[in-house]
Amino acid sequence: MKPVFPNQREREPGFKPVSTDVPHQPKNATTMNATIGHLAAMPPTDRMPVLFVGHGSPMNAIEENPFSLTWQQLGRELPTPRAILCVSAHWETPDTRVTVSAAPPTIHDFGGFPKALFEVQYPAPGSPELAYEVKRSVEQAEVALDTRWGLDHGAWSIIRHMYPQANIPVVEMSLSYRLTPQQHYELARELAALRHRGVLVIGSGNLVHNLRLMDWGKPDLGFDWAMQANDTLKQLIVEGRHAELASYATLGPEVQLAVPTPDHFLPLLYALALKEQDEPLSFFNDSPVMGSLTMTSVRIG
Ligand code: ZN
Repeated sequence: MKPVFPNQREREPGFKPVSTDVPHQPKNATTMNATIGHLAAMPPTDRMPVLFVGHGSPMNAIEENPFSLTWQQLGRELPTPRAILCVSAHWETPDTRVTVSAAPPTIHDFGGFPKALFEVQYPAPGSPELAYEVKRSVEQAEVALDTRWGLDHGAWSIIRHMYPQANIPVVEMSLSYRLTPQQHYELARELAALRHRGVLVIGSGNLVHNLRLMDWGKPDLGFDWAMQANDTLKQLIVEGRHAELASYATLGPEVQLAVPTPDHFLPLLYALALKEQDEPLSFFNDSPVMGSLTMTSVRIG
């Protein structure tokens, strides 16, 4: 059976996102309100780096390959975060949401992969404090606190390699499909202060991501258009031309093929929006896979 990637399935007619009916407030909101402010009250930290990580196939979660080895290396060399905020390509909702559970479940949001992948659990704690802090920080959109979603493979396939002990709290943030790319970028800018409170922000997606055109016979190759789109996007990233990146639909036919839907591209905008002027930016895992995907990832700071 050919593996099914979630965003293929989600785009079938009639598919209803799992989280549509989630209530906006957790039942024990009053109790948790007592803990609001812990994160903001903590002493400031050095500015944490920001990552955009190309996650690719869910199999990267259980494989040791050049991509996952780089994730492991990052976990060892980055300053240890107090918490992680992960914006995942695999959680699209009408409004913007953050997971507020103290123990977010591991979600296996795919089909057709080996049993070993379904058996993976990543029991990192959540952080209601961080969820509230995100809600308070964002003024231009109402951020809903979500009690049902947990960590989808956009988050855990990467983070389990970075922090195998599952000892860093993780909060996931959804992508509202009602916002324009520009609005996503502006919303992300409101998260800037979290970097100075020890929060590692990770956008998880893929720079070039066209599942319809994937060629399973080309595990390490990229089609010409995919490589050209990847180069165009990298150049704009290096030159800090964020407004043009947010208008990706106007960047020509190659980029249109590379970004057929916004889900895997928008997490990049979240990372770039947090870049401060003086910061270095570098690429890692800059390789194509299966013709129409690239794993190209960005480290800021
Ligand atoms: Zn994905």
